[in-house]
Amino acid sequence: MKPGFKGNKQSLPSKLCAVCGRSMTWRKAWAKNWDSVLYCSDACRDKKKSLISKASHG
Ligand SMILES: [Zn+2]
Repeated sequence: MKPGFKGNKQSLPSKLCAVCGRSMTWRKAWAKNWDSVLYCSDACRDKKKSLISKASHG
């Protein structure tokens, strides 16, 4: 128990970013599409895209 933590029984859902693996906590902005949220940020979304588009190996 942390002092100063007010008894908030309702814990927000969280999941891990598909790219960097950071845990991201539910945000109001994601309420509509929480299920389809895979990345913690646009940067990670971009990374994933660039990883996929790199089909050729040099
Ligand atoms: Zn991320």
